[in-house]
Amino acid sequence: GKDKIICSGCGISIQTEEPNNLGYAPKSALTREVIICQRCFKLKHYNEVQDVPLTDDDFLKILNELGKKNALIVKVVDIFDFDGSWLQGLPRFVGNNPILLVGNKVDLLPKSVKRNKLVNWMKWASKNYGLKPADIHLMSAETGEGVMETASLIDKWREGRDVYVVGSTNVGKSTFINRLLKEFGADDEFLITTSNIPGTTLDMIDIPLDDGASLFDTPGIINHHQMAHRLNKNELKVISPRKEVKPTVFQLNDQQTLFFGGLARLDFLQGEGRSFVCYFSNELNIHRTKLEKADQLFENHLGELLTPPFKENVDSFPELVKKEWKLTEEKQDIVISGLGWVTVHGKGAQIRTFAPKGVHVSIRPSIF
Ligand code: GDP
Repeated sequence: GKDKIICSGCGISIQTEEPNNLGYAPKSALTREVIICQRCFKLKHYNEVQDVPLTDDDFLKILNELGKKNALIVKVVDIFDFDGSWLQGLPRFVGNNPILLVGNKVDLLPKSVKRNKLVNWMKWASKNYGLKPADIHLMSAETGEGVMETASLIDKWREGRDVYVVGSTNVGKSTFINRLLKEFGADDEFLITTSNIPGTTLDMIDIPLDDGASLFDTPGIINHHQMAHRLNKNELKVISPRKEVKPTVFQLNDQQTLFFGGLARLDFLQGEGRSFVCYFSNELNIHRTKLEKADQLFENHLGELLTPPFKENVDSFPELVKKEWKLTEEKQDIVISGLGWVTVHGKGAQIRTFAPKGVHVSIRPSIF
């Protein structure tokens, strides 16, 4: 066959078709004498870290590697998509290594939310997932809030050891690393390199720390049940909150329905009238209707009144799958992975949800 072109930076096969995938280089780069992939190019010239998607198999190999190290693990989650960005399986692999759990994107949460209440909730939720973090911290990689404190906590907990930063894609890991690089200065003496993850074609970004240890940025891991993987770039813009989320409150009676764009739906089947507090991107249109009209509305207006998905994407959009819930607590969240959540007040409501096939819907004790 044809000779494969290899990136002289990281050794991956070069491809020119998919900019968001591993090994991408623009066609024009192929005429150069030394060919490197876009990821290495950005790292080399701009000290900029770009996350790459990876397969589940590679993910397991990375976890395996972490298990063999004596290191501090920094696990980054998106606080707006806690369950969706959670990495299952980490506890089995980390052994005795301490984990610093960092909740990123705290700027998205309403200002009224008490930070320590949230940290307590994260502690509870971690325990539920079988993880016992040494410490929990909130930050916003975007605004810088809490980032220096995160750096100090890393220094405190690593006790001279290497640091591995892990997280699923889109949690803001690159934004965080890039901010650290800016704060601590990445000059020539402070050379960033990549180091290979054994058994994979993937590299970790290796950032030297002042005592000879390293901070490794591992590739972002894809959580397949997230909404993001079913949407195109423009649709994603609508559902991804960019600033503080303003909750919308609906006072509903039974037999009423809420549509979240055309991506998800909630039917209030049975119970006394109560409030439904919706935490979604301010850009996402929430439409209230009568349950008896809901099917037809969806049938006739998906991609128009009910959007996203946008019209051109309607045909290829996965079918919505329904699920029923009986809420037994005073205040519970119904979470649609990667989209948002609804806090339902008052016990005893019978609810039905619809979400695209493969997207997780779950209930949890209210986060605030
Ligand atoms: P990665 O895949 O984990 O490396 O995530 P990125 O750093 O590429 O960030 C994913 C998206 O989240 C980008 O659109 C960022 O601008 C955004 N983002 C990252 N950190 C924050 C944050 O602290 N707050 C907000 N609001 N957005 C963030």
